[in-house]
Amino acid sequence: VPTDIIRFCTELVEEAQQSTQHKIIFSCCSKQMPIQTLNAAVDITLLRRILVNLLSNSIKYSPDGGRIYIDLDCQPDAFIFQIKDQGIGIPLSEQHCLFDSFYRASNVEKISGTGLGLAIVKQCVDIYRGNISLDSEIEVGTTFTVSIPVY
Ligand code: ATP
Ligand code: MG
Repeated sequence: VPTDIIRFCTELVEEAQQSTQHKIIFSCCSKQMPIQTLNAAVDITLLRRILVNLLSNSIKYSPDGGRIYIDLDCQPDAFIFQIKDQGIGIPLSEQHCLFDSFYRASNVEKISGTGLGLAIVKQCVDIYRGNISLDSEIEVGTTFTVSIPVY
């Protein structure tokens, strides 16, 4: 029996909310795709790795009490989700390096990390033949968008 993807995401967000002062705002629009199609198309283990890594980055790189928006959107041919924060942002000139293993941007020196989270996320997205992109501005915030095709 495939796991219910939407319920899984809701529970993951609720769990994360318990452990942080950030305000995690979750929204989901799933009207356009039968839930069975979505559940069959998306592997929960990979999805968990993607979400946990992106969410932990948003928490780590934004101030306590900051808002983090998670949006799920089930389109007819793709499952698209966005994680948006109001954090420190990523310098434009470094954004193309972020998915390389061990790469950490120059503005996170005081915050600990190994630089592997996004490399893992990228590998998971590649397994789905999906796409990941980001939009980020220093001291304004960062949005990561992941799109997973559903056949
Ligand atoms: P870890 O391996 O523990 O996750 P990390 O968070 O440093 O360490 P990645 O998750 O791979 O490594 O992220 C790589 C770099 O991308 C980060 O070091 C940081 O510079 C930048 N980054 C990622 N997400 C964000 C974000 N939401 N806001 C600001 N910078 C970010
Ligand atoms: Mg990380």
